[in-house]
Amino acid sequence: MTDALCDLTGGELATKIAGGEISATEVVESSLERIEAVDDEIHAFLTRTPEVALERAAELDAHRGTGAPQHAVAGIPLALKDVLATMGIRTTCGSLILENYLPPYESTAWARLSGHGGVLAGKTNCDEFAMGSSNENSAYGPVRNPWDLERVPGGSSGGSAAAVAAGEVVWALGTDTGGSVRQPASLCGVVGLKPTYGLVSRYGLIAFASSLDTVGTLTRSVRDAAVMLGAIAGKDHRDATSLDEDVPDYLAGLEGGVDGLRVGVVAEAFGEGVEPAVRDSVRASVDRLADLGASVGEATLPHAEYTLSAYYLIAPSEASSNLARYDGVRYGFRAEGGTDSIDMMFRTRGEGFGPEVKRRIMLGTYALSAGYYDAYYGQAQKVRTLIIRDYEKAFADFDVLVSPTSPTTAFRLGEKVDDPMAMYLNDIFTIPANLAGVPAISVPCGLDDASLPIGLQLTAPVLGEQVLFRAAHALERDLGLVLRPPVLAGV
Ligand code: GLN
Repeated sequence: MTDALCDLTGGELATKIAGGEISATEVVESSLERIEAVDDEIHAFLTRTPEVALERAAELDAHRGTGAPQHAVAGIPLALKDVLATMGIRTTCGSLILENYLPPYESTAWARLSGHGGVLAGKTNCDEFAMGSSNENSAYGPVRNPWDLERVPGGSSGGSAAAVAAGEVVWALGTDTGGSVRQPASLCGVVGLKPTYGLVSRYGLIAFASSLDTVGTLTRSVRDAAVMLGAIAGKDHRDATSLDEDVPDYLAGLEGGVDGLRVGVVAEAFGEGVEPAVRDSVRASVDRLADLGASVGEATLPHAEYTLSAYYLIAPSEASSNLARYDGVRYGFRAEGGTDSIDMMFRTRGEGFGPEVKRRIMLGTYALSAGYYDAYYGQAQKVRTLIIRDYEKAFADFDVLVSPTSPTTAFRLGEKVDDPMAMYLNDIFTIPANLAGVPAISVPCGLDDASLPIGLQLTAPVLGEQVLFRAAHALERDLGLVLRPPVLAGV
């Protein structure tokens, strides 16, 4: 078992490509071979795009021959969660209702990567419309965790996380509405970044809950996350919520260390339901940060206990409105046999959506209905404000907050499918950052007794990505974990 090119980080590959040591074509071939070797087992991809990838790599190699400088993402194979629109390339959202949907436009995040020379290897599997924490809500079958094929990769960006963990691609984009980048990153042993809300354009991200949706990155190093964010961040006039901020150089200061950094350990995140191995590993990592010079104290988010209640009113409410567009009339799947247009819509939505999506549409429609709006949706928005204030108070005392990313390591396929509440509890530590719009990152911090990865979450104030990267990089460097999932033993 030796490392293939596709097992290197984006940073390592960019240096080799720039130095003329290897070509983009060689890197892309290595990634495509890995996909061939392992993806029938892992099922991270819903659509593979090998021809497009090879053609693009050849163009980049020809261009490099001219001596023109290339971006750090140029020639590096990537994957996109299948909720990000790719022009002319099937985009399903993990749903039957978009089974044959070919978007007539590109998502901005992908357009920016592509403009810098990013190479698309394919579209990744996910929970239907990004609703889920295990990838078992995909209409096309689950993804398997490269660390243990009987276990889930997390969700909803499980395909992106598994593809990066297994070296099928070097990095990937996912989306995070309540934890869907960070939780699968944690369960698959990769780095998952959810940026500040509005920092990366949502244009072409097929909407789930618009006030919470963010585009995030899955990478094998913190440095790679900084490179990817730099490539996709920044104002986009096509997204009204996109922030008009200059994008800093996220690599500058990355090596700055944590000396003097004020680290707050979230008191509420170590209680009941957190596996002892997760708790111990995160605490041991906090000790490492202290040894590196950080000043560590206890932080508190007193309204965190209302997190799930608020999220499961706000997110389904927005989803019920966003998903009203799938009516069988304009695009997407249309059921046969309708007696009139209303009947056709009923059938289309009945056959096209899976059970979790229907559950959320019903919840949201109820929460928004006359007479209940103030009691449910309105109340949830008030709780959201309280959580935002909790963060403001905590960040008066601390530069970053630490918690586990997820209370548990990867669980078995089927273990929680019949218990929505158990499934929802996966995101108890990730959702608050979405409600508050603040950035957060999950970094691998150890393995449990079953050799399953554990993730540590760092959270920073709005637009605090630089401090997040600096702290996460210091921890990553200090821990020096070498994470190679068992699925690679045979390749
Ligand atoms: N697991 C959470 C949910 O099911 C979060 C999903 C997400 O972030 N897209 O809603």
